[in-house]
Amino acid sequence: MYPSRNSDRKGGILPNSLPGWQQELAQAVTDPVELLQLLQLDGHRVAPRLAAGNAFPLRVPRYFVNLMRPGDPDDPLLRQVLPQVEESVQTPGFVSDPVGDMAAIRGQGMLQKYQGRALLITTGACAVHCRYCFRRHFPYQDESAGRAQWQTVLAELATRPEISEVILSGGDPLSLSDKRLGRLIDGLSAIPHLRRLRLHSRTPVVLPSRITDGLVERLAASPLTTSLVLHCNHPNELTPVLSAALAPLREAGITLLNQSVLLAGVNDAAPTLQALSEDLFDSGVLPYYLHALDPVAGAAHFTVPHERGRQLLETLRARLPGYLLPRLVCEQPGASAKSPL
Ligand SMILES: *Cc1c(COP(=O)(O)O)cnc(C)c1O
Ligand code: SF4
Repeated sequence: MYPSRNSDRKGGILPNSLPGWQQELAQAVTDPVELLQLLQLDGHRVAPRLAAGNAFPLRVPRYFVNLMRPGDPDDPLLRQVLPQVEESVQTPGFVSDPVGDMAAIRGQGMLQKYQGRALLITTGACAVHCRYCFRRHFPYQDESAGRAQWQTVLAELATRPEISEVILSGGDPLSLSDKRLGRLIDGLSAIPHLRRLRLHSRTPVVLPSRITDGLVERLAASPLTTSLVLHCNHPNELTPVLSAALAPLREAGITLLNQSVLLAGVNDAAPTLQALSEDLFDSGVLPYYLHALDPVAGAAHFTVPHERGRQLLETLRARLPGYLLPRLVCEQPGASAKSPL
């Protein structure tokens, strides 16, 4: 429906003319059978392979469904969201907490693994449920910072002068309303030793209408140097609509970066990754990380061997300017930074 190239930036539907993002979220597709019907795949061989995805149900906004190719069971966007029977296969080494999150919890809703940076689990909610998600088993009920706990987390941060950057993560921080997010940002902005604010969010990619004027104003109003790290895995996710939605953030001086996960059957081909980097840059976004899949239970079918990852990166290195090359990393529990592959 939307061309993936953004040659006609002015041609798409502008986010302001879309219905409210909360309404769109509420209308997300949650029934796998409906998803297949929408894509004209209900009579197809994929239908018997559907899994219920009970603990981690299907969730995908209709905007994102419209970017999938009807009739294509191997569509790279569909593959990221469709619960399939492979998920129930138990694979040795694939566990519920692959990145050592539980060992890094410092008080309710705060994770610290790396020097100078603290990560806040702001909410368990996401606009989309990605089947490969490393936090798909995370106990959000126990460990996310609800309204009440934010005061505790802010007080804790205020006593930690060594922390210069706060990362809002989740779940997805842009699941929060502008008002709640604004209050949290105000609280962080009042802590004198904090310099940088970072948001890790996939929401704009699946729901560009989330980038409201109010959100841009709140981010721009903070004295913290602010960046938004998007999560885009495939060039088909980069539409003129998304590009147009991102423009006001750039104009407000917010640095836009992207992290992707290297996923079998989605983006494990050099031309795909090359197009992703180039299309991101056309939208004002720099590639940051390309993550090797975290070995989370239920996601083994997305594995790309590390050796193949290294080959892909070497191919990209020969084809792209250095600044469009993402850093290929994996996360090792207990390490002091993301580890280069
Ligand atoms: C990935 C991660 C960060 C961010 O790492 P950068 O290398 O700064 O992007 C920070 N904290 C935690 C707990 C993380 O998992
Ligand atoms: S948006 Fe991010 S946190 Fe949410 S399910 Fe997808 S990968 Fe996981």
